[in-house]
Amino acid sequence: MNLQKNILLKDYTTFKIGGPADYFVLAQNVTDLQEAVAFAKENNLPILALGGGSNLLVTDAGFRGLVIKLDLQKLDFAGSELTVGAGVLVAYLLNKSLEQGLTGLEFLAGIPGTVGGAIRGNAGTYGQAMSDVVTEITYLDENYELKTCQPNDCHFTYRHSIFKEIKAIIIEAKLKLAQGDISAARQLVADRLKYRQETQPNEPSAGCIFKNIEFKEVDIDDLKQRGLDIEQFAKHQKIPTSYLIEQAGLKGYSMGGVQVSQKHANYIINVDQATAEQVIMLISFIKQQVRDKYGIQLHEEVQFIS
Ligand SMILES: Cc1cc2nc3c(=O)[nH]c(=O)nc-3n(C[C@H](O)[C@H](O)[C@H](O)COP(=O)(O)OP(=O)(O)OC[C@H]3O[C@@H](n4cnc5c(N)ncnc54)[C@H](O)[C@@H]3O)c2cc1C
Repeated sequence: MNLQKNILLKDYTTFKIGGPADYFVLAQNVTDLQEAVAFAKENNLPILALGGGSNLLVTDAGFRGLVIKLDLQKLDFAGSELTVGAGVLVAYLLNKSLEQGLTGLEFLAGIPGTVGGAIRGNAGTYGQAMSDVVTEITYLDENYELKTCQPNDCHFTYRHSIFKEIKAIIIEAKLKLAQGDISAARQLVADRLKYRQETQPNEPSAGCIFKNIEFKEVDIDDLKQRGLDIEQFAKHQKIPTSYLIEQAGLKGYSMGGVQVSQKHANYIINVDQATAEQVIMLISFIKQQVRDKYGIQLHEEVQFIS
């Protein structure tokens, strides 16, 4: 196990924000992972499982514990099924699956990060998510024992899984894909990447800061009376939070080194050596404005690490 100390986490997050981790290990196989976990147990250290760091806001003070960066890179295909390590980038997985003639992962186009992070947060787009393709997950449970679970036991909902409820480390997963029309799938991926390029910022960020709002969470008639054009979102039964932030007049709003993106109002971007504190202040300002104007409580999609 290659244990390092005082590693700056801003170098491991897409936000480019975050202070030092006391301890840091790159786990390249399950033995590395188990040794790291044993070390944390012996020294009574909290553990942070780190994937691509694309959904994290790490505080400026950093993390007083052991960061385990999952670098488990297994990728084995068997017909239309595959086993993939938690550290594999979802972009790589998508490309390799298409090379194997397999479709079903096009919804991952443009999502950064790893398989482990994507399963934990049930990442997705266009109404599809990891829960649609996963058939089994292997993980270390709260007692750091090796376990497997099936999707029905994983509490998958919108941007949620059981791995947000328990302290577990995902090791690998089995996925079931389909032998589909590869050129159509490649075209879809290219179109979606182009659309993202046009509509999402390039500056450092952690993706969407807030979850979108499901129709069932809010009083639609009340929102219409407050002047919002909600009908346009009826098809997907979700109000994009970017729309609410924009309607609240906050697009482009900045605070120190952070800004609400001009391109997509649910992105906070790091424009000038931003600190986590500035992001947190901007998040609470946005929440307060949206609550005051529309009576809606926003919930963060980004994970806070302190
Ligand atoms: C530009 C941009 C666009 C994005 N677009 C989307 C999108 O369209 N849809 C979407 O859903 N998300 C999107 N995201 C958010 C993010 O990419 C996803 O949430 C992604 O799945 C996070 O994966 P990660 O490996 O980077 O996780 P990390 O950020 O490293 O970690 C996120 C959480 O998962 C935990 N975790 C990571 N690996 C493991 C593991 N092996 N076992 C247990 N816990 C683990 C971490 O402890 C942390 O709590 C976007 C982000 C960015 C920056």
